[in-house]
Amino acid sequence: MVSFLGTLRPTPFSMASFAPCRRQISLHSSPLSLPRTGFFPFKRILQACLQSNAAIGDVGVQLPAHQSEIIFVGTGTSEGIPRVSCLTNPSKKCPVCTKAAEPGNRNKRLNTSMLIRYPGPSGRCNVLIDAGKFFYHSALRWFPAYGIRTLDAVIITHSHADAIGGLDDLRDWTNNVQSHIPIYVAKRDFEVMKKTHYYLVDTSVIIPGAAVSELQFNVINEEPFVVHDLKITPLPVWHGPNYRSLGFRFGNICYISDVSEIPEETYPLLKDCDILIMDALRPDRSSTTHFGLPRALEEVRKIRPKRTLFTGMMHLMDHEKVNEGLMKLMETEGLDVQLSYDGLRVPVTL
Ligand SMILES: [Zn+2]
Ligand SMILES: [Zn+2]
Repeated sequence: MVSFLGTLRPTPFSMASFAPCRRQISLHSSPLSLPRTGFFPFKRILQACLQSNAAIGDVGVQLPAHQSEIIFVGTGTSEGIPRVSCLTNPSKKCPVCTKAAEPGNRNKRLNTSMLIRYPGPSGRCNVLIDAGKFFYHSALRWFPAYGIRTLDAVIITHSHADAIGGLDDLRDWTNNVQSHIPIYVAKRDFEVMKKTHYYLVDTSVIIPGAAVSELQFNVINEEPFVVHDLKITPLPVWHGPNYRSLGFRFGNICYISDVSEIPEETYPLLKDCDILIMDALRPDRSSTTHFGLPRALEEVRKIRPKRTLFTGMMHLMDHEKVNEGLMKLMETEGLDVQLSYDGLRVPVTL
């Protein structure tokens, strides 16, 4: 068992990259200031979570307000782990899904998603990458536990259901916490959303009085953009033949959740990477749309980040067994690579 929080190298916090958080948005900015609520209202919920989920040792430990962090909201495939079909199979027992069904087990994984938290003058900024089909369940599990109340922005990697299927659930925030949520999305994916989420894009079609998510769509291209003073650089990658997905770089952290090929022009954007979060679907081979572990490791050797955390793992990836194998790469090749897991929090310097 590897506990990342326990084995983390301390990351000295630097204010160098933070101008005062002026809620600056490079695109269609709203002057509205969103309320931020501190951690204390969550105390009782947090205690309940700690009692019911002892395996997640670091949940609820509040980091100092000046410390930035990333939280792995989800690290699994589209159908989630455990798979229902594995748990109902009368002829074959799936070892990973059986374990994943146990409370607190790190093989339980929902749709890939990450939260970036960093300090602003009136509280922490919470920027979410993707809100997929299981967003509600992930948020229910981790947001109260980590004291996450507002969503200051959502940035979208691509328009598959496991990345945007939860946009409808943002209504709970815009009805009850804040007036709206800015969404940052590439034009091609916005075009998809006009069909899949037409009532969120054009709210004039809604029956008066019906409450839906109030989303403020900002179309991005493949150039860097700024969200609440955080510079975010898109990392264009292929996610299957002829289908583009975006990774994102913020500070020296690179997040690439859905990739089958990295175009040559994206490699310079991955230079001097401290933490690489990379797609690794299965232990044996790649699929047409995702890196498998061998290919993901090849890319790690090429990119040479200081540390790598894999994400997007299917049910063939046993958390402990795969991590044991990956640990050996530290001795043999000096590679710091591990699987992430839902709820993992890593303090970072942005
Ligand atoms: Zn299974
Ligand atoms: Zn996808």
